[in-house]
Amino acid sequence: MAPSAIIVGAGLGGSLLAHFLGQRGWSVRVFERRGDPRARGYVGGRSINLAISARGLHALERASLDREVREHGIRMPGRMLHARDGQTAFVPYSADPTRAIMSFSRSALNMLLIRAAAQHPNVELTFDHRCTGLDERAGTATFEGPGGARVDATADLVVGADGAFSAVRAHMEKRERFDYSQHSLAHGYKELSIPPVAAGPHAPFAMDPKALHIWPRGGSMMIALPNPDGSFTCTLFWPYEPVPGKDEASFAAVPDGQAALERFRREYADAVPLMPELVAEYDRNPIGSLVTIRCWPWAMGGRFALLGDAAHAIVPFYGQGANASFEDCEALVDALERHPGDVARAIDEYQHERKPNADAIADMALDNFVEMRDRTAHFGFKLKKKLDHALNRLMPRAFVPLYDLVSFTTVPYAAARERARRQDRIVLDAAIALGALLVVGAGVAAAWLKGGAS
Ligand SMILES: Cc1cc2nc3c(=O)[nH]c(=O)nc-3n(C[C@H](O)[C@H](O)[C@H](O)COP(=O)(O)OP(=O)(O)OC[C@H]3O[C@@H](n4cnc5c(N)ncnc54)[C@H](O)[C@@H]3O)c2cc1C
Repeated sequence: MAPSAIIVGAGLGGSLLAHFLGQRGWSVRVFERRGDPRARGYVGGRSINLAISARGLHALERASLDREVREHGIRMPGRMLHARDGQTAFVPYSADPTRAIMSFSRSALNMLLIRAAAQHPNVELTFDHRCTGLDERAGTATFEGPGGARVDATADLVVGADGAFSAVRAHMEKRERFDYSQHSLAHGYKELSIPPVAAGPHAPFAMDPKALHIWPRGGSMMIALPNPDGSFTCTLFWPYEPVPGKDEASFAAVPDGQAALERFRREYADAVPLMPELVAEYDRNPIGSLVTIRCWPWAMGGRFALLGDAAHAIVPFYGQGANASFEDCEALVDALERHPGDVARAIDEYQHERKPNADAIADMALDNFVEMRDRTAHFGFKLKKKLDHALNRLMPRAFVPLYDLVSFTTVPYAAARERARRQDRIVLDAAIALGALLVVGAGVAAAWLKGGAS
């Protein structure tokens, strides 16, 4: 008999995993809390578009689904930095101009994955069903459908792919020796938009679409990613509360759209003429929270496992959350293939392989917030990127900058971070040695000249 799986959540990770397992002949049942987006349209609680990079594309390629993203996604080979005075500077992501991250619609991606999973006769998708509990001993997951109807389901493998506020994880938390931490950022986010324009150098785009736009403002920032219809989705990252002693924007200090407009005229002046709906959108759109969630173990009872944000929600500043969820799917199916008939062993190997990498990208995503909102505004940032790219061009194998390792390779996150640290130490040591050599050389030359003159 074919092995069976229950997947809780038909988000990005859950639907890709269903497709992968469906391809491999598993009998799969997916239960999703929301309605079927194919019938009712997509209701997303998160960002409108996503940056998909090498890791996500690699997983989608294995699922034969990368073509759509490559064809319809918008290439962003660099960041466009917007200074307070409206000056812009383009800083490429890589020394290799062919490398780019892709802006793609979250709803289109989720629909693509759901359709791919649904095409397998051995995959059954059930919408409007919320997971309400697990029974570890019986190996069942319980769901509540419309009108409170209860469904108990069992399978060889039960995967919680139900996002940052996972019901599956909530059940695992009740167990002894389960580690859990949730760190909320002092910043929240609000989505705004820049609509298409009829004329201009980039029409229908109001700005250059071949970049991820950043307005770094020290303690806060705004970013904008292009959409295929010519619009941009902007995300404002501001602290919830005012920061004592600093005249910085915060959601509490800027309570409504009119106040936001005034603030924007001071801080994001070049964006104001491009945002005709700013006041209404600021009033209407909710403030989303940003969390880092870490937990351990990810596997329980030899059949229950966590995947994606349910196991490791991270802040979005490296654009890697969905990419990491897709990598989880690959790691899990690889482990299941290595151990046919032994789900317990496979999920144990999967969790040990992925946990250090999830921790590494969680840390790097937090660090990248400081880089994006603050360091990008400084001359030193552009200089460091130029130096990184020059070294990479000089020694393409020996020196690969961290951003390239994370976004343009599939080197495991933890190994990428370690390698970048090693490289930076070598560069620093070389710079110190060179500096010392120059000082000594200058001293010797001065002494020689002095000797020659006397
Ligand atoms: C503002 C913002 C911007 C982001 N930008 C990027 C980016 O540029 N690039 C990137 O790679 N990542 C980005 N991310 C992260 C990315 O959105 C997540 O990492 C990704 O969606 C995780 O996929 P997932 O399948 O684990 O969870 P989700 O996509 O959240 O899917 C979880 C699914 O489970 C369902 N569900 C929840 N509870 C239950 C239940 N009890 N029963 C049944 N179903 C349930 C939900 O309805 C949902 O469909 C961003 C996140 C945010 C907040």
